[in-house]
Order: sequence, then C-alpha cells, then structure tokens
Amino acid sequence: MKKVVFAIVTIIALSNCTTHKQNDMEKVNIQLIRNATLKLNYGGKTLLLDPMLSPKQSFMSFVVPDKNLNPTIDMPVSVDEVVNGVDAVLLTHVHPDHLDPAAVEALPKDIPFFAQIADKEPLSQMPFKNVSLINDKEMYDGISIIRTNGKHGPDELFETLGTVSGYILQAKNYPSIYIVGDCLLDDDIRNTIATYQPDIIITNSGGAKFMGTHTILMDADATVQVAKLAPNAKVIAVHMEALDHCTVTREALKNEAEKAGVQIVIPADGEILEL
Ligand SMILES: [Zn+2]
Repeated sequence: MKKVVFAIVTIIALSNCTTHKQNDMEKVNIQLIRNATLKLNYGGKTLLLDPMLSPKQSFMSFVVPDKNLNPTIDMPVSVDEVVNGVDAVLLTHVHPDHLDPAAVEALPKDIPFFAQIADKEPLSQMPFKNVSLINDKEMYDGISIIRTNGKHGPDELFETLGTVSGYILQAKNYPSIYIVGDCLLDDDIRNTIATYQPDIIITNSGGAKFMGTHTILMDADATVQVAKLAPNAKVIAVHMEALDHCTVTREALKNEAEKAGVQIVIPADGEILEL
C-alpha cells in the first residue's frame, strides 16, 4: 500500500512539474509583415527582422533588372505601424529585399541594430549609429543572438551573392528560435538544427531563382525536409509571394507539406502568430 501511495504521489508531483514548466514558458508573438520582414515579441523586446518597407514595384526586378517590379505586393500595414514600438533591428544580410532605402529612412538612426560582421562595410555607409556586428554571439538585454552559417546559393554564385547569416535567439523562459535566413538546406543548416534543437524554425522558402537558373533559396521540398529534421519544432515558412524571382507559392508549399505529412505554418502577410 505504501508503495502505491508513493507511486501516486510521485506521478502527481511529476505531472505538476511538467505543467509548471509549460506554464512558465512565455509566448512569442511573430508578425509576418511581408517577405522576410518579421516583427518578433521576444524576451520582453520587439525585434524587427530584415525590414523591407518599400511600396509595391519601387525597386528593381530580380528577373528583368531594368524594370522596377519589386516588391510585387504592397505592405499589409503602414510603415509607421511596422516601426512603431520596435526596440531593435536584426539583419541577416544587406540585400535590398532584407534592408531597403524605405527602411533606412523610416528607422530611428540610434536604434540598436544587430547584423552579421560580413556586412561591416555596407553598414558603415548607412546612417545607423548603434550597430553591433555579430561574429559568433551578442547579448541584447537578456536575449542571446547567436550567428549561424549558411549559403545563399551554389559556390559559383558566392562572389555575386555574398555572405549571409542566420540567427539563433535564446532567452530565459522563452522558446528558442532559429531564423535560418536566405540559405539553402545544407550541412550547416542540418548541424545548427541538431546542435540547438530549436523550438521554432523560421525558413525563407520562396525557392528564388538567380536569373532564372540557379536556386538560391529553400524551396517547398527543402522546407519539408527541415520539418522532418525537426519534428518537435514549429516550422514557419516566409519569404514567399513578394518578389518576382521567388517560385514557391504558399499553396504549393501547403500541398507539399500535406503530401509529406508534416506541419508547416505558412502565415499570410500581416498575420500575427502566437506561439
Ligand atoms: Zn531574400
């Protein structure tokens, strides 16, 4: 009898412990603005990731470069609404679909601005006064920002496309987030997932083509593979249906995910996810 009572008490204690742990975990709000631009409420701060804030068809096409065809859609909210309440900016790389003139103009110039060390030179030409260049890791008010590696395209395009990064975000009592960035799925990405076991993974899944040939961004199949590599993580796919060189639609990705039997969250522009 004593043994049975002990077992019951242990089970109750353990289940309380589990419930307690889940309740202790803070929620993360992630709003997709458009393309890779996200507003993240994380670790008590509001972070703006990869701000592309230009109006529709205001900068060059990535397919027909002498035409202004990008972005292919307008923002779902105003620039003021995006910038309002932002504590810091996080940038994966300086391509114009991740940091554009409209964002440079709209953002406060003294805002804490975190970027990869490879972008030191282009950022030195910009008016931001509070830039932290990340080689391995930076801390921002209790949030760890760990830089991760990846390749934007095949080796022969490295000179053209340059270095890109992703980031792991960690904060006490918050789920960890892996922002993959504009990377193909390769061993760098697989190793990052295996090492950090992130709770949330954000993939740029538009399957962009460089001049109509080389794939320079994860496509639907690669995103499904990420979901299979991290079955316990919530995979959120963005960077679709906003630029003219992206080939993957939300519908196509949804179908691929269903076929493969994996869960992928595919937010609409402007949608706020609470995770
Ligand atoms: Zn991009």
